[in-house]
Amino acid sequence: MAAKIIDGKKWAGVIQEEIRVEVAELAPRFRPPGLGVVLAGDHPASRIYVSRKEQACEAAGIRSVETHLPADTSTLAVLREVQKFNEDPAIDGILVQLPLPMGVDEKRVLMAVDPSKDVDGFHPENVGLLSQGNPRFVPCTPAGVMELLKRENIPLVGRHAVVVGRSNIVGKPMGMLLLAQHATVTTCHSRTERLQVVCHSADILVAAIGKAGFIPGAWIRPGAVVIDVGINRIEPEGGGKAKNCRGCGFRGSFT
Ligand code: NAP
Repeated sequence: MAAKIIDGKKWAGVIQEEIRVEVAELAPRFRPPGLGVVLAGDHPASRIYVSRKEQACEAAGIRSVETHLPADTSTLAVLREVQKFNEDPAIDGILVQLPLPMGVDEKRVLMAVDPSKDVDGFHPENVGLLSQGNPRFVPCTPAGVMELLKRENIPLVGRHAVVVGRSNIVGKPMGMLLLAQHATVTTCHSRTERLQVVCHSADILVAAIGKAGFIPGAWIRPGAVVIDVGINRIEPEGGGKAKNCRGCGFRGSFT
């Protein structure tokens, strides 16, 4: 049975263009939307993520403002920057890039973001709204997975969706979004027994484990739809340049 690859890059381009058009339509009457980004430390992946977000904003006509704090910053210094964005009427959304440096109280910082500007959806108020089935801001990775499923016209009602991973950023919100679309959801984690059997019963499988190649193709039922959000950097055997690798041994959906 041939597998159909879901082209995430294609959909990302389509969505970015839709946003650009939406922002351009608002432009004659409103100021551009504003995004405030707090980056602390020199985590290489964080730098890349932030610069990609900035490029995406620029392409869409969104104004982004970055505050970069040193790696030895304090909780109070981060809180001060968050507060500035909270009070800035030209800033509509705030992103605090995680992970924060050691010694910075991440929980306290995320709690300090104005929930009405918390575009990452990490504040307890937004987590609560999502769990009540009344989402305001939703963490971007699970929101992106839902968008992919919608745009590929993949039916969810009554189907068994298995999410491997239960983090606050990916796994838990993923399960809640699938449930809101009437899927029957199973959330798996490191203590789940018979993971292979559970994965094999999935109509839709979302892998969010953070371990390269963890789910082999044999665990996936023909006809299932697989979305793999894992990003792992692996060193090739025998040396050479490290490359990005997905968490599943299989990609795309069977047709
Ligand atoms: P995380 O916080 O490390 O969570 C990993 C989850 O996988 C945990 O719930 C853990 O279970 C579970 N797990 C670990 N080993 C397992 C095993 N042997 N069997 C079953 N479950 C197991 O990671 P995360 O932040 O959710 O991210 C997951 C992956 O997605 C990473 O590769 C990350 O880089 C990627 N990611 C991608 C994006 C994107 O935009 N594409 C965004 C965020 C993250 P326990 O809870 O029991 O420990």
